Amino acid sequence: MSIQVIYTEEFKNGIIEDYLLGIPIRIIEKDYHTYQGKIYNILREKNIVFVGCKKGIQHPSWKGENVTKRTALHSWIRNHKPKPLFCEECSLNKPYDLANISGEYKRDINDFEWLCRSCHMLKDGRLKRLQETSPKREIKDNLFKCCKCKEFLSRDNFDKDKSRKDGIYFRCKKCVKLLNKLYYDNKKRELKNAHSL
Ligand SMILES: [Zn+2]
Ligand SMILES: [Zn+2]
Repeated sequence: MSIQVIYTEEFKNGIIEDYLLGIPIRIIEKDYHTYQGKIYNILREKNIVFVGCKKGIQHPSWKGENVTKRTALHSWIRNHKPKPLFCEECSLNKPYDLANISGEYKRDINDFEWLCRSCHMLKDGRLKRLQETSPKREIKDNLFKCCKCKEFLSRDNFDKDKSRKDGIYFRCKKCVKLLNKLYYDNKKRELKNAHSL
């Protein structure tokens, strides 16, 4: 038996707001303890077209016109940095592909390494996460803007986030708390619903 979760308007609006702020679906999923399908449904319900990652979040190197340049660069690197016998990271497995280190695709053999499949996947995931979790943030007089409530706050009003350049989460602590409350309210409704069935 599956339990029908009834999301409150507040919860739905929070998701939509975050989505329109350009926060990646993957992070919304985590913050709201929900999953992609649900988010898409809510967006559809509110007539918001899902357009994938919004501008400014994806790394510029991953944009369409750069793809051809990247392929050309890859073959240049391949010619200048021959495949070694072993993966440069673990020195255990056979190398599988050339991986870019900085994410900037420099024409520099030191910006590339030969990695085995698993090391490549590991590093790729980390890089992607790093790029996706970095919506641009305004800083004014040493105060950081919370992407959610738009207030400028000092560092200690934010949780630490190592994956971000500035080292702190894009939502302030107060906004994270509100989010958790939203989640638990929903959870309570969900349980209540289950009992009344
Ligand atoms: Zn490896
Ligand atoms: Zn906030």
